[in-house]
Amino acid sequence: MFAEIAVDVPGSSRSTFSYAIPDGMDVREGHAVWVPFGPRVRRGIVFALSDVSQVETVRPIARLLNETPLLDRHQIKLAMWVAEYYRSNLFTAASPMLPPGFADTLRTYVAIGANADVAGLSTRHARAIELVSDADRLRKTSLARKFGRGGVRLVESLVRSGHLLESTVWDRPKTSEATQNFVTLSISHPEALELGDTQRSKVRGDLLRFMVESEDGFPRPELTGRFGQSAVSGLIKSGVLALEKRRVERDPLSHYQFQRSFPMDPTAPQADAIEQINASIDDHVPNKPFLLYGVTGSGKTEVYLQAAQRAIESGRGVIVLVPEIALTPQNLARFASRFPGQIALLHSGLADGERFDQWWGVHRGDYKIVLGSRGAIFAPVQDLGLIIIDEEHEWTYKQHDASPRYDSRRVAERLSALTGSTIVAGSATPDVGDYRRVERGDWRLLKLPDRVVGSPESLPPLVRVVDMRQELRDGHVGMFSSALLQHMDRVFDGEGRVILFLNRRGSASHVQCRNCGYSRQCSRCESNMTYHRADNGVPTALICHYCSRRIRYTNACPVCHEHRMAPSGTGTQAVVDEVDRLYPNAGTIRWDRDVARTARAHEEILSTFLHGNERVLVGTQMVAKGLDIPSVELVGVISADTALSIPDFRSGERAFQILTQVAGRAGRGQSRGDVIMQTFQPDHYAVQAAVEQDFDAFYRTEIELRRSHANPPFTSIVRLGISDPSADAAKAEAFEFAELLARTATASGLESVQILGPSPSFPIRVRGVHRWHILLKGSSPVDLLDEVQLPHGWTVDVDPVSVA
Ligand code: ADP
Ligand code: ZN
Repeated sequence: MFAEIAVDVPGSSRSTFSYAIPDGMDVREGHAVWVPFGPRVRRGIVFALSDVSQVETVRPIARLLNETPLLDRHQIKLAMWVAEYYRSNLFTAASPMLPPGFADTLRTYVAIGANADVAGLSTRHARAIELVSDADRLRKTSLARKFGRGGVRLVESLVRSGHLLESTVWDRPKTSEATQNFVTLSISHPEALELGDTQRSKVRGDLLRFMVESEDGFPRPELTGRFGQSAVSGLIKSGVLALEKRRVERDPLSHYQFQRSFPMDPTAPQADAIEQINASIDDHVPNKPFLLYGVTGSGKTEVYLQAAQRAIESGRGVIVLVPEIALTPQNLARFASRFPGQIALLHSGLADGERFDQWWGVHRGDYKIVLGSRGAIFAPVQDLGLIIIDEEHEWTYKQHDASPRYDSRRVAERLSALTGSTIVAGSATPDVGDYRRVERGDWRLLKLPDRVVGSPESLPPLVRVVDMRQELRDGHVGMFSSALLQHMDRVFDGEGRVILFLNRRGSASHVQCRNCGYSRQCSRCESNMTYHRADNGVPTALICHYCSRRIRYTNACPVCHEHRMAPSGTGTQAVVDEVDRLYPNAGTIRWDRDVARTARAHEEILSTFLHGNERVLVGTQMVAKGLDIPSVELVGVISADTALSIPDFRSGERAFQILTQVAGRAGRGQSRGDVIMQTFQPDHYAVQAAVEQDFDAFYRTEIELRRSHANPPFTSIVRLGISDPSADAAKAEAFEFAELLARTATASGLESVQILGPSPSFPIRVRGVHRWHILLKGSSPVDLLDEVQLPHGWTVDVDPVSVA
């Protein structure tokens, strides 16, 4: 018998390797194994068993990593799909399905080798040897990283020449089960009581009587705390008490208390949605996903909860995806209070030990519901019945910074097809691509048209647009318009609170006319041109990060011909300073990624705003997304334009989503809140639609723009990225590969695949490395990738969320 194994090797191999199964080794599909590969031993996953092998001479599997298989059959198929669709290594595609801590077990180190002859080595080589010599021993990957692209090759050449010596060790997994010593009685209760009465020591007698009262023993530390070390160990030594190692569960929810909640009587639209979803769950066959479209407060969460209940009642599992748990703790609270003890959490914010225990708990079937961020889609849920995707338009569902660069919404579709589970994806501002799926009949629409009557937030806010061009003409040059100032005056006269929102992304990167509000766009791409200050003799310019078109920067506006074009952007701190100057008694809190990185920090800021004296919260997207923020009387959008300014064809979509969300923060109890939206582009379709809170109007315009520029969802895009500490190397490599792609396209008749760029990424320099990218666009742009060998160091991102 042979096994087809996905091996943990570098590169983008999407195939398996054949290995022989040694006699007596019980190998099954989904098993994690150690296999010899080249001179080393590597991890692998058994994808299939077969009685033939791909090659003549095969080596045997070294050993099993785990007694039970880690992957189900449908997960094996899912991994194959992820590798194929996202062009990732097969092992890498399966890695998000493996238990936490699994990746830590094998490490390769380098130390100084036998060859001490350094004559003729380059300075980079010599430097590498010096680093190793200073440290005695270094992780191979961390050494390679110090030399940027080509670092791995550099280290490997030193290993081959004998200057460095490589060794691979099995480290103990960093994370494993937590155990505790339990003490139990090893004699019968009557015997123990009798023995207790005849003890000379009173403490021992008490200890024995205490033990009789317990059914399953006590943790040893608790007993020694009460009765002392010597009594406990004395009775253990004499065999009256026994020690037993038991697993203890590290439960991230154990610190919380939830009030049990019960299903509500659904409104008519809710009842209709629930009925359709339940029918689909009961069907147990692959079905079209549901898009649950309803404004904030329309009762989507109640629909999720009742659908989840149906799935559980029929003995099936549920995955609930949320964009970011740190910002939406109340989501978790609502699930946990409806399904006490049945929820497992899986997200990166957990401690390693908690994540480990939760994963295994799900694997064993202890929990029916998994709630987590995008990676939770790979959780080992048994007999999956329902996948809920909350705030489905959120871009955090796509992994962009590491392979596999998967989109959990697309993975969910595949998983649903493999398991016959039902998808419910909800949003107030659906993803344009997903709404298009509804239009084409691939998804089904469920609508909750109104806020639930009688619920606390039942009245929509009053939104007013302020034309900042007019403000300037009227001589108001401050960051707050006269309308915003008037409203703030009124709120501060009373008891109310204010949220000021601005989107710092893209700040000072786009250029806009102070007279007419025109924001410079690429004529080819419907994407904002970005401002690049003169650098190293290169003059100041405007660049399209999508197609790399470059134009001269001037302050003349092509629309109104005034010389008032200027880079634009203000940060949160500037707004805080201005409020403090104008309203010294109001009190301000700033909330953005710079001041709050952890869930804890977010909670503290919220709690300060809820209970403290500060009445103004100034923040970025968090004030729009953190749903736990109390409603306030007034929301001020400092500049709707910064949201529109990101250099991406999706900037209109992003702006509409964020502006609609932030406007929804206004309104308290039965009184309508006010929203003041400042903008230089009051006529922009995304701003207009956000003011009206009208997704349909937005979608109609947006989808036509996408169609006329042949942008997704009418085409697909693949983003190829390269980064290097050296600016010149990154750029040269990018141009070289683009040329190779162009030649290949011609040679293989794939001229229909458009090659855009190479362009500098936005921002071009991140943590010291320079980034460039090439975009492939067309109906099936990956076809071109199949014709070339991907050069070393390039990353592939299929369906990227950002093209800048
Ligand atoms: P969404 O998830 O769409 O933002 P929620 O499910 O949070 O909406 O519902 C908004 C509010 O309405 C919540 O306070 C919720 O408790 C309440 N609510 C939802 N459905 C009902 C119902 N059928 N009857 C009464 N109140 C409801
Ligand atoms: Zn362009």
